[in-house]
Amino acid sequence: MNGRVYLVGSGPGGLGLLTMRAREVIDAADVVLYDQLPGEEILATLPRDAERIDCGKYGGNHTLEQHEIEALMVEKVREGKTVVRLKGGDPFLFGRGGEELEVLREHGIPVEVVPGVTSAIAVPEMVGIPVTHRRYASTVTFITGHEDPTKPESALDWEVLARLKGTLVILMGVKNLPAITAALAAHGKDPATPVAIIERGLRPDQRVTVGTIADIAGKARTAGVRPPAVIVIGGVVELYGGTEE
Ligand code: SAH
Repeated sequence: MNGRVYLVGSGPGGLGLLTMRAREVIDAADVVLYDQLPGEEILATLPRDAERIDCGKYGGNHTLEQHEIEALMVEKVREGKTVVRLKGGDPFLFGRGGEELEVLREHGIPVEVVPGVTSAIAVPEMVGIPVTHRRYASTVTFITGHEDPTKPESALDWEVLARLKGTLVILMGVKNLPAITAALAAHGKDPATPVAIIERGLRPDQRVTVGTIADIAGKARTAGVRPPAVIVIGGVVELYGGTEE
């Protein structure tokens, strides 16, 4: 078996934030298994003769289940292929990159991880919001918004999250935004805490919606906010530099 797998982060979208190492391994790939998030600009530059396998989720419909993606990677490597698993942002921040690494290790497959610029930092940053700032926040917490806070089996402790003084950055949180802001407020988070939602960061149709814990869910509904979006909660949002659309 000469094949190997590269678990590659594409950055938050666009060629400018793709790393040089990512470019190198993508260009040498026999097979690219890609998610939706890397975006058209990057996907348009996959090598012509590489086999492309779409692993994206489209409105909740998975083209391939997670176990099928993992099985395909193993199968292609066993054929001696160089496989790139291309994921949005950084491969190990949410998005199940860690699980894929485990599976590949279990099969004794050589893996190189190529870090990427994460949307959790870059998307707020590109609209002028630093996730930390001496005046506002000395910690930052990355949260998956995928979990409904009203479910008792939630892995997230909203009481603790509400108490944190630093910045909260929520990924995959659009659908549960009303429940998330309600859970934070119920556990004592100041309702006046500023919130920004950045949809489709770094894409031509990027849009920013700003508000507070108290009113952001209503504003998001009115504006028709949709995934993918990064939600930032905390004083750093006051540094937002753009104009609201
Ligand atoms: N590993 C990725 C995150 C995967 S989870 C990373 O490091 O960026 C997927 C979530 O990332 C989306 O639901 C959204 O919250 C966020 N996201 C990724 N790219 C984005 C972009 N260009 N604009 C806004 N949000 C983005």
